[in-house]
Amino acid sequence: MRLLIMGPPGAGKGTQAEVLIKELQITHVSTGDMFRAAIKEGTDMGKKAKEYMDKGELVPDSVVVGMVKDRISQPDCVKGFLLDGFPRTVAQAEALDETFKEMGIKSDGVINIDVPRERLMDRLTGRRICRSCGASYHVIFNKPVVEGKCNSCGGELYQRSDDNEVAVGNRLDIYEAQTQPLIDYYAKQNLLKNINGDQDINDVLADVLASVR
Ligand code: ADP
Ligand code: AMP
Repeated sequence: MRLLIMGPPGAGKGTQAEVLIKELQITHVSTGDMFRAAIKEGTDMGKKAKEYMDKGELVPDSVVVGMVKDRISQPDCVKGFLLDGFPRTVAQAEALDETFKEMGIKSDGVINIDVPRERLMDRLTGRRICRSCGASYHVIFNKPVVEGKCNSCGGELYQRSDDNEVAVGNRLDIYEAQTQPLIDYYAKQNLLKNINGDQDINDVLADVLASVR
């Protein structure tokens, strides 16, 4: 199965993806996670991406498109994949359509997690991420069992440098201007699965699973 998961920053894409990939036995491909890994490794691409990410801006399409193309051509993506955080612009979506065509594959659906903007600031400024496995927690809405530690791997939790009010405001504006038009783009292709993301994490998951089964 080849799926896309989209929605504004803080909609719960990463949270849902963690469970979904296990249920469906597919590979998680998150462009945000890939950039954060490149930053950690100190690669040139990571250094360049960090400048955009810290301000809450998009990394240029020319960088992202090639990175995704390489990633979904890897052997672990043959069993299927969940693309998270990509595409974010119409140009990226068109490039992805082209890549799928070249690879002779098709998308099985686009999960769109819908959450009103006024909920997103609190979700993002309270988010904590595991340094080792990338799992997402929240200081109020999704607390780890032991404060500061990941439930699944025991890793240390940290706050992303772009989860501050200024960068979040910018990310939400960019989402509305550049990414939201993709909802129409995929609706026209009959691929869109709209999910109400403004409910408990487990209820969102039940709706997501029902939409892809
Ligand atoms: P995204 O990957 O879409 O940016 P995350 O999955 O990281 O979003 O979720 C953003 C924050 O909101 C995290 O702190 C997460 O724990 C929390 N969160 C996710 N889903 C819900 C939900 N349904 N209700 C409340 N908080 C949620
Ligand atoms: P995310 O982890 O999905 O919230 O992404 C974090 C940041 O990485 C974004 O704010 C962008 O700066 C960058 N990024 C991730 N995916 C993309 C993409 N598809 N296009 C451009 N920039 C991206």
